[in-house]
Amino acid sequence: MTFEDLKLNPSILKALRDENYSVPTAIQARAIPLVLKREDVLGSAQTGTGKTAAFAIPIIQHLIGHNSRGKRKILSLVVTPTRELAIQIGESFTTYGKYTNVKTAVIFGGVPQNPQVRTIRGGVDVLVATPGRLLDLMDQGYISLQDVKYFVLDEADRMLDMGFIHDIKKLLTKLPEERQSLFFSATMPPKILTLSQQILKQPQKVTV
Ligand code: AMP
Repeated sequence: MTFEDLKLNPSILKALRDENYSVPTAIQARAIPLVLKREDVLGSAQTGTGKTAAFAIPIIQHLIGHNSRGKRKILSLVVTPTRELAIQIGESFTTYGKYTNVKTAVIFGGVPQNPQVRTIRGGVDVLVATPGRLLDLMDQGYISLQDVKYFVLDEADRMLDMGFIHDIKKLLTKLPEERQSLFFSATMPPKILTLSQQILKQPQKVTV
């Protein structure tokens, strides 16, 4: 299988050629068609399997159709446990979307919030965030999730290990009911499965 077979937008295919990606990884080959069909996905995959592109590519494709006049709204939210992962995921969206007008911002704690607030005020389509800073900026009224249509919870098991369960639960109450959700975790113990059931609707399972 090639990326062309996945019926991706030519601007995404061009960006993937720049990266010298020729063949989708297993998780990409399985997850991308499901995400494009707007299914919820429960993905069991470790870092290094190409899972970031497995969600970033089809979300960019969804967003190409959205490109709007007027102010950008946060249409896609990706929540991940660490700043390193947030930066990597943000770079992936920017790279795969470089020939589109999809705009991505990354926020995380431990640094001053003002530059992040200014970036968000300027308008973004995709927000990649760690839970604490996200809730903080939401509580201050700088971020609204009311327009989110595509939600990704990345590294859910690590998120719980790091004590983010209450943050995630709080976040879920702020997300629109009508959305597509993608949930990724390296492991699927009962606690993670229970959390996934609170987030996903009739998910398709992808294990690699
Ligand atoms: P991830 O599992 O998302 O952290 O990705 C692991 C690494 O694989 C990253 O450095 C990606 O740039 C790279 N990668 C992802 N998909 C592909 C692909 N289809 N072909 C070649 N490299 C890839």
